[in-house]
Amino acid sequence: MFDSLSDRLGGVFDKLRGRGALNEQDVRDAMREVRVALLEADVALPVVRRFVDAVTEKAIGQDVLRSVTPGQQVVKIVNDELIEMLGGEGQEGLNLDARPPVVVMMVGLQGSGKTTTTAKLGKFVREKHGKKVMMASLDVNRPAAQEQLKVLGEQVGIATLPIVSGQQPVDIARRAMESAKLQAVDVLLLDTAGRLHVDEALMGEMKAISQVSTPTEVLLVVDSLAGQDAVNVAKSFNDEMPLTGVVLTRMDGDARGGAALSMRFVTGKPIKFAGTGEKLDALEAFVPSRVADRILGMGDVVGLVERATASIKEEEAELLAKRMAKGQFDLNDLRMQLRQMQSMGGLGMLAGMLPGMKKAKQALAASNMDDKVLLHMDAIIGSMTAKERARPELMNAKRKKRVAAGSGTDVQTVNKLLKMHQEMGRAMKQIRKMGGLKGLGALFG
Ligand code: GDP
Ligand code: MG
Repeated sequence: MFDSLSDRLGGVFDKLRGRGALNEQDVRDAMREVRVALLEADVALPVVRRFVDAVTEKAIGQDVLRSVTPGQQVVKIVNDELIEMLGGEGQEGLNLDARPPVVVMMVGLQGSGKTTTTAKLGKFVREKHGKKVMMASLDVNRPAAQEQLKVLGEQVGIATLPIVSGQQPVDIARRAMESAKLQAVDVLLLDTAGRLHVDEALMGEMKAISQVSTPTEVLLVVDSLAGQDAVNVAKSFNDEMPLTGVVLTRMDGDARGGAALSMRFVTGKPIKFAGTGEKLDALEAFVPSRVADRILGMGDVVGLVERATASIKEEEAELLAKRMAKGQFDLNDLRMQLRQMQSMGGLGMLAGMLPGMKKAKQALAASNMDDKVLLHMDAIIGSMTAKERARPELMNAKRKKRVAAGSGTDVQTVNKLLKMHQEMGRAMKQIRKMGGLKGLGALFG
């Protein structure tokens, strides 16, 4: 597998810890790693350049959050910019706002998934938009192409234009329009022929079809595994045919999603759907954040940073860090820490969000450390006297019994808490020996 971007950035940022803001040199060092990550994810080079410039500008001068590492923070900035470039949070669906029959024309290279996607989209439009749909194959290049769409149509229960042999694509398009009007079809999907490469004959054919059918949507179907090549294809199509959107197929494979970023960048057109399998219901609305995660190849560091930013009060964290650095870590501190964990979404969440934390998560699950435990622990500490919280070693059998009763737990749970506190204290001493705190996040990462 690939190194995740956050792994890569770890090294770059070790030296940055303890400083106030992300400075230019640090950010430029980090951007070298971002560049490699994007290239590995198959993002086209010019796109990588533009992207890195945009992120560099945003990152320089940002305050370093205490509760996450600078590397994690840069990942978040990179992620936000990726989402923005992939189209933001707003999802662009199909535009079917035209006089029926509304025509949706599918274009793209041979094997990109046009025919399959046509059938998927037909099913989608009927089910999600409640429209009457008809499909027609204009592919006269491949012998069985029209037959293929007919078979798929039967599978999803959508009518296809009857096949008349010997007709040219433009004639078929005209016939499809007439037939759709006669049958009061709302949406007509036109599946077109592809070639192995974009050439003049292909573009001429697409334009002629477009002229007789005036499509409302012209969707470029691109194989997400095509990587860099896909960019040239998209550019050629977009220069010749005004596209209205892109469908990325084979997103179920191990493409890292770089094609998505390149597509959007080169065409400026929204990516509307993602094909996620061979089955005819494997079509999803395109979700930029999901693809950003994939490009960065990591656990949800981004979510962690967001939560940390929102929930940890700076002064509290600072105070705690100072006390820890001095080796002072009593039950009040533990309580503060537990509460922060709680507001960050509990133990399970925290473990799940950090890359490489699978093992820790399994360990947590095995020790029954669920989120209820966090609440119990808070209650236990709440039942102690101020003296006991400051000096946990005072906790003898009698006191434990009292606290267990007061917190609605049992002595065993009280013991667990005390043991956990001891272990954390020990871990902190260890961290101190290793050269100081890397922020609270280091405790768990
Ligand atoms: P066309 O030449 O552009 O019409 O491509 P087809 O629709 O005939 O698809 C070519 C192959 O890709 C077929 O075997 C499809 O099942 C497969 N395919 C299409 N979309 C997807 C997808 O999203 N995921 C996967 N795994 N396979 C797909
Ligand atoms: Mg086809």
